[in-house]
Amino acid sequence: MAEAKIIDGKAFAERVRTRVAKDVAALTTAHGLTPGLAVILVGDNPASRAYIASKKKATVEAGMRSFERMLAASTSEAALLAEIARLNADPAVHGILVQLPLPAQIREAAVIEALDPRKDVDGFHTRNVGLLWTGSEGIVPCTPLGCFMLLKETLGDLAGARAVVVGRSNIVGKPIANLLLRENCTVTIAHSRTRELAEECRRADILVAAVGKPEMVRGDWIKPGAAVIDVGINRVAAETAGKSRLVGDVAFAEAVKVAGAITPVPGGVGPMTIACLLRNTVSAACRQAGIKPSA
Ligand code: NAP
Repeated sequence: MAEAKIIDGKAFAERVRTRVAKDVAALTTAHGLTPGLAVILVGDNPASRAYIASKKKATVEAGMRSFERMLAASTSEAALLAEIARLNADPAVHGILVQLPLPAQIREAAVIEALDPRKDVDGFHTRNVGLLWTGSEGIVPCTPLGCFMLLKETLGDLAGARAVVVGRSNIVGKPIANLLLRENCTVTIAHSRTRELAEECRRADILVAAVGKPEMVRGDWIKPGAAVIDVGINRVAAETAGKSRLVGDVAFAEAVKVAGAITPVPGGVGPMTIACLLRNTVSAACRQAGIKPSA
C-alpha cells in the first residue's frame, strides 16, 4: 500500500497568515481599523515566554498591533481581573489572550469568564463554548480550528464520515468533536476510560489524537486510508544522549504506512494554532466594528 499523504500544516499555516496579512491591510486602508491582540503572561515560565514571543512576532508580521502585559508571578487574582477589565474597555484591543497555566493563587475559570467574550480569541469563555455547541457563530479555539481547517483542505466534504476523537479536554478534544459534528460526521469521543480503544480507533475514517501520550496510537489502530490528525506534542529523549525530540500521540512511522493522510509532528497541527489565533483576532476586530469578516 502507498504511504499516506503528509498533511503539511506548516505550508498551510503560512497561507493562512498571508491571507490574514492581506485582510489586515485591507481593513486598515478601507476602514482605518488595525486589529490589536493583547497577551497577558503571569510569571516567567520559560515555555510560556517562548510562546508569547512567537505570538508577538506573528502578530506584528501580519500588520496587527501587539500589546503585552507581563505580570509578576505573585500577582493577585484581583489585580489580573483589573487588568482584564482595562483591556476589555480598550478600543485598540480586539483580542485578549491569557497565557495558561496561571499561578496557583489565580482561578483559571474566573479569569476566562472575566474576558469580554467578543475579545476571547482563544474561544474558552463559556459563551463561546455555548455558541459552538449550539451551532451558532462564536469564536472557536485555535488548535481545534486548525485541525478542522487541515481536514477540510485534505478531504473536502466530511459529511457522513466516522470520526473518532481521542481526548476530551475543553481546549482540544471537545471543540474538535463539535466542529466535526457540525460538519455532519458521526463522532465518537474516546478518553482514558474508553474500553477497547484500539477497536474504536480502527472504525474511524477520521482519527484525531489529542491525548498527550507519546506515540500511543499504533499503526494497527488505524483503518487503512483514514485521515489522521495528531495534536500531541510530547518531548522524549532522543537517540543521542542528552538530546530530546518531539513526537506526537501517534506512532508516525507505523501510521504513515496505513493512513491515507496524516499530520506530522512537528510541522502538522502546531503551526496552525498561531495562524488561527491571528485569524480569530481579525474576525473579532471585524465583528466589534460591525464589518463582515472575510470567509
Ligand atoms: P489534556 O487536557 O491532558 O487531555 C488529555 C485527554 O486524553 C483527556 O481527555 C484524557 O482522558 C485522554 N487520555 C489520557 N490518557 C489516555 C489513554 N491512555 N487513553 C485514552 N485517552 C486518554 O490534554 P490536551 O490539552 O487536550 O492536549 C493533548 C495533547 O495535545 C498534548 O500532547 C498537548 O501538548 C497537545 N496540544 C497541542 C497543541 C498544538 O498547538 N498543536 C495545542 C494544545 C495541546 P480523561 O479525560 O479521561 O482524563
